[in-house]
Amino acid sequence: MEGREGKGGRQRLFVALDLPDAIRDDIAAWGEAELIDPALRAARRESLHVTLAFLGGRGPDEAAAIAALVRGFEAPGAPLRLEDPVPLPRRGRPSALALPAPSPATADLHRGLAERLVAAGLYEPEKRDFWPHVTVARVRTEGRGARRPEAVARWPGDLPKALKEPFYGVRVTLYRSELQPGGARYVPLAQVELS
Ligand code: ATP
Ligand code: MG
Repeated sequence: MEGREGKGGRQRLFVALDLPDAIRDDIAAWGEAELIDPALRAARRESLHVTLAFLGGRGPDEAAAIAALVRGFEAPGAPLRLEDPVPLPRRGRPSALALPAPSPATADLHRGLAERLVAAGLYEPEKRDFWPHVTVARVRTEGRGARRPEAVARWPGDLPKALKEPFYGVRVTLYRSELQPGGARYVPLAQVELS
């Protein structure tokens, strides 16, 4: 388990587009009604986000450089919308449940951020295409130390219409992820408001 600081002072970092509070509230309310299967563990309300770049374990110097880059990042607010939940991965036993968040503006944010991080020698782009989404639940694993997800008998129904209306992502945040048995906690390290 990685605590406040992991091995050798490394921290597990990622950059995310934060969702507006009202959207987080609506997703949490939907989750309380729909994420009822005991194998599902809903994401914390305050943890709902769209990952823009996963950075992994970084030392203090890199973390400081990434934080400075995020604070200096300038971009317009990104409109996005949510789609009905999909279990992930799509093949095999699902380990998570996500709401796809298709959005060219969010893809632009991802690209702009990745370009700057790459230029600063702080990021190696992922080979797979960027797929913006909000993870809303994890599937518990079968017993202690097991990695295989439990079987989910009752997947949630579709989103209410109101949650499919477009909205704006208004803030980009660098988070430290603290992995814990009851679910990761994310600690904000640097933030920038989008214009
Ligand atoms: P847990 O792994 O304990 O279920 P978590 O996935 O919420 O918790 P992290 O694994 O630290 O916490 O991930 C933080 C964010 O980065 C999440 O949005 C996650 O989906 C994303 N992420 C994690 N690993 C990768 C990866 N290898 N590539 C892309 N995104 C990743
Ligand atoms: Mg994870």
